[in-house]
Amino acid sequence: MSKTGLTLPEPLNLINNEWVPAQSGKVMEVLSPIDGKPFSEIADSDAADIDAAVSAARAAFDDGEWGRLSAAERGRLMLKLSALISENAEALAQLESRDNGKPIKQARADMAVTARYFEYYGGAADKVHGEIIPFMTGYNVEVQREPHGVTGHIIPWNYPAQMFGRSVAPALAMGNATVLKPAEDACLTALRIGALSVEAGFPPGAINIVTGRGETAGKALSEHRGIDFISFTGSPEVGVMIQVAAAKNFIGCTLELGGKSPQIVFDDADLDAAMPFLVNALIQNGGQTCSAGTRVLIQKGVYDEVVSRLKEKFETIEASDSGEDAVLGPLISARQKKRVETYIKEAGAPVIARGSVAANAPDGGYYVAPVVFGPCEPGSRIAQEEVFGPVMAVIPFEDEAEAIRIANGTEYGLVASVWSRDGGRQQRVAKAMRCGQVFVNGYGAGGGVELPFGGIRKSGHGREKGFVALHEFSHIKTIVTHHG
Ligand code: NAD
Repeated sequence: MSKTGLTLPEPLNLINNEWVPAQSGKVMEVLSPIDGKPFSEIADSDAADIDAAVSAARAAFDDGEWGRLSAAERGRLMLKLSALISENAEALAQLESRDNGKPIKQARADMAVTARYFEYYGGAADKVHGEIIPFMTGYNVEVQREPHGVTGHIIPWNYPAQMFGRSVAPALAMGNATVLKPAEDACLTALRIGALSVEAGFPPGAINIVTGRGETAGKALSEHRGIDFISFTGSPEVGVMIQVAAAKNFIGCTLELGGKSPQIVFDDADLDAAMPFLVNALIQNGGQTCSAGTRVLIQKGVYDEVVSRLKEKFETIEASDSGEDAVLGPLISARQKKRVETYIKEAGAPVIARGSVAANAPDGGYYVAPVVFGPCEPGSRIAQEEVFGPVMAVIPFEDEAEAIRIANGTEYGLVASVWSRDGGRQQRVAKAMRCGQVFVNGYGAGGGVELPFGGIRKSGHGREKGFVALHEFSHIKTIVTHHG
């Protein structure tokens, strides 16, 4: 136990089921967003550590126990890990809340989702069937799915535990051996889940975790010649680098790069049902969610009413430390706080509502009061760029055609929601959305393990979550047998 009352992981990497320091011996401080103070350390790894992890994964896949397990045996290990995550959920949630700053209720929800990833994909591991294709007389053609081999996983700081589950679980289910580079800003729960994977009985090399900075450990993983596929979640800027590295390595990748997702409210919407979603789709995780509903498009007939309800709600929201009842915690880092504050300062749109920072929020924490801007010009920066903070852009519209045009009018395309009682409109607008997921009369930022998720254009490509993720983490082999 540390002086924070939490059991903190050592500043070590998990390679081949052994906990080892960075080969350079370097460590880096972990600051808590709650008060900006250091409270732990992680290994500050580089290319040498990544190389060791990739070698361990390669050996596990090619010649090790992991590569010899049946699909059912892999599934059982994953279910065991799921159960261990559930058993340790409260301790993991406390650690996540301290490390990432998210309110404890959100952290608890995250742990349930993380356990669910291992449950869902553990259950799916032995249910991926091949096909027989009718071909010429005298031939048998089998199509089967095979793991890529060694998969690299680079995840962000906003949902460290959930992202571990989302990215690594489907890869394991298909039989890949994995190397995870979590984000330097928040990765302690990833290390704890790594320890639970050893306890669950995963063979050496199946799950390797190397902590460190993006430009050293992350870059080394993305460029390593020994990986066969890479899954990346983070900023579009780094996403481009990952894709270039994957191209140079002739391997595939999935990119999940965020969004500027619209929530569209038509005149005939059930506003009582819509209001909590409109607010929570932004406020969840302090707006630091790739699928946050950051643009609220409101039809003219209900504009004044929705705006007044948003104002009433947002003015009561306080950014505070992660006590039991907090709904909005601090942002992840001083850098993120500055970035969000700059967007707020330069928004150039009227303020509809501004929440507050709690008077007792600890000094030095990265708290930002939530802000709703509107009416915003659809083409303005505040309505176009991903802020990644508690900032909402409200945009009025006249009719369905204009709503569709505005909703599709950014470089992103991740999630959208449509609020209307008109069944035809629900279908028309949902079909017209250029994005990967649409909610009708609802919104689901995060969660939804069963639901294929991913974007188009600047939101990235490829799909994670759902059964389809098993296809991303495998490739098809066609075997043609001439039997005469
Ligand atoms: P980032 O893209 O820099 O970091 C994400 C992950 O990539 C981290 O693990 C990081 O260590 C790693 N990384 C960084 N540079 C790398 C490199 N050169 N090669 C390989 N890996 C590298 O994101 P950030 O700087 O933490 O956040 C910046 C912005 O990105 C945010 O403000 C937000 O807009 C966006 N973002 C989106 C998501 C998402 O869920 N889509 C998550 C985090 C951040």
